[in-house]
Amino acid sequence: MTLKKTAAYGLPLVVLFVLALVFPYLVDPYTIHVSNVAVVFGLLAIGLFLSMGIAGQFDLAQVAFLGVGAYTAAILTLHAGWDFWPAALAGVVISIIVSLLVGIPALRVQSHYLAIVTLGLSLAFISLVINLPITGQAEGLSGIPAPVFFGIDLGDDYLFYYFGLALLIVGIAFAAFVVHTRLGRRMRAMRDDDLAAAAMGTRVPVLRMIAFAFGGLYGGVAGALYAGLIRFVAPESFSLANMFLLLAMVIIGGRHSLPGVVIGAVGLIFVRSWLADFSIYAQLGYGALVVIFVVFLPTGIAGIPARLIELWKRRGTKGAGGIGVAPYVPYAVEAPDAAGSPDADAPVVLQATDVVKSFKGLKALAGVSLTVRQGEIRGLVGPNGSGKTTLFNVLSGIHPPTTGSVEVFGERSTTTPSYRLSLRGVARTFQNLRLFPLMSVRENVMMGIDRTPSRWSWRYIIRPLSVLRADARMRGEADEILDRYGLLGLAEAKPSELSYGAQRRVEIARAMATRPRLLLLDEPAAGLNGDEVNQLKAIVNDIRATGVTVIIIEHNMGLVMSMCDRVTVLSTGKVIADGLPEEVGRSPEVIEAYLGDDAKLEKEMLDATSGPAEGTVQ
Ligand code: ADP
Ligand code: MG
Repeated sequence: MTLKKTAAYGLPLVVLFVLALVFPYLVDPYTIHVSNVAVVFGLLAIGLFLSMGIAGQFDLAQVAFLGVGAYTAAILTLHAGWDFWPAALAGVVISIIVSLLVGIPALRVQSHYLAIVTLGLSLAFISLVINLPITGQAEGLSGIPAPVFFGIDLGDDYLFYYFGLALLIVGIAFAAFVVHTRLGRRMRAMRDDDLAAAAMGTRVPVLRMIAFAFGGLYGGVAGALYAGLIRFVAPESFSLANMFLLLAMVIIGGRHSLPGVVIGAVGLIFVRSWLADFSIYAQLGYGALVVIFVVFLPTGIAGIPARLIELWKRRGTKGAGGIGVAPYVPYAVEAPDAAGSPDADAPVVLQATDVVKSFKGLKALAGVSLTVRQGEIRGLVGPNGSGKTTLFNVLSGIHPPTTGSVEVFGERSTTTPSYRLSLRGVARTFQNLRLFPLMSVRENVMMGIDRTPSRWSWRYIIRPLSVLRADARMRGEADEILDRYGLLGLAEAKPSELSYGAQRRVEIARAMATRPRLLLLDEPAAGLNGDEVNQLKAIVNDIRATGVTVIIIEHNMGLVMSMCDRVTVLSTGKVIADGLPEEVGRSPEVIEAYLGDDAKLEKEMLDATSGPAEGTVQ
């Protein structure tokens, strides 16, 4: 970080910190009490920020986690005679366990379905504490002892303030650490596109559970703190009205922004205390505000500066049409075309046998067999709807086949999930570009570089420094790849700011960042101009020259005929031809299949086989 940047971020933070330190000297005791409640809700809101804002899990049970933490601390101190701190710790642990249980439905349902399920579970929590004798039923539990921290009596609101502030700062720092490193990057990728995240090696179910565990961790800490602050717990504190207030904090503050969420939480707690005499109108007001923000400013208050900058930029670069790319730097020293096709006895990289894939009776694949050898560039062609993309989905583990088997690198992989195939060395691109829209180009590529398994997440607790080191290394590697693909100048840009051709290239760079042995390209030339198609051809040839096997789905017959060693033709889910480009191009079945779809292609294919190597460019 440059000195200027450090000052730009650091100075306001230092000012804010000093203000927070002198704050108690400037205000009355009631304001300090409200500030303490704001700290509790700040921590609680960070939990929802991580699970919902960052990981995209619509968890409406977050207030119940506050309740679990608070009730556990209350019950253990009052009924079991525990000291406050062990009871608080137990509250955090039990809150995490409950959050993992609440998260189980997220393995099957997402978005609004998940919201409804978790809302139902938090209602169940409230009716449980109203009915159980141990929780004091509707009256709740009072007389929780004031916590004493190394001789400091936190029963004093002023002393509690400094303790709470310290905890909030630690909570913010840890959340920032998570968001900006490996785990947060994967959670954001999962939020934006879970299918593409899985294809990059992310184990989505585990990550969803981790997201809920963060909700439980922050909820439990906030709950224990709440028990120590208010020293009284009752069902209405964990009601749906408070869940809604919490949601309002996160949405109004800005669910993708950590400072936004903390500002939203602290702000709304103060607004609530000012409007305490008008609580019914206040509820209506929060509701109206949430609707206004969701519709007009989905990124919340924190999104306003970025929104203004965007409007400003748009004025300046009207009609510029995205940013372009620099030239590609080949891996191979020799001319890539010289690499040539592989020997006939090269090892088999991919073996699909009688693969059938049905979608509700429609046979997208009706018994496809395919053998691809190491170092080959295989073309996969066929009319629209012939099953090409479905075959890629089966090969990359996105859909298991209905029947039949697949072997990759000599290992059976028929039902292997896509994250595992990615870790084994299968990479792919998507027909309709699936870049992570809210992440920078560099972060998109870092998603590919990150090959760590999910169990690595423990390092966030036991070896946080090694997480930071690994991240710095991944960043360096990403920049090397971006440089090779002529994208380094665009590293900080969001995919939507790039030209279409540049976005296609980012997707190939991201796939190559996984260091694959088998690369599946789904119509990489679609939407490219003639020059970009020639660059693509050079890139694919060079990738093959480094020993990577490539299967490419392509409609541009000129490109297929001039680039591929062998071509496989699909029609209505069946292989109708498989062989050298010139053989396949002459096959009457192939010509007939194409005639039904597009008569022009017949001529194009014949031109391509007899004409110069460049062929026609669409
Ligand atoms: P291609 O890539 O060759 O154009 P696809 O593999 O995308 O063809 O599609 C083959 C057939 O399978 C099409 O009829 C398509 O509608 C159907 N199909 C593909 N994916 C799904 C899906 N997830 N659900 C239902 N039908 C699908
Ligand atoms: Mg397709």
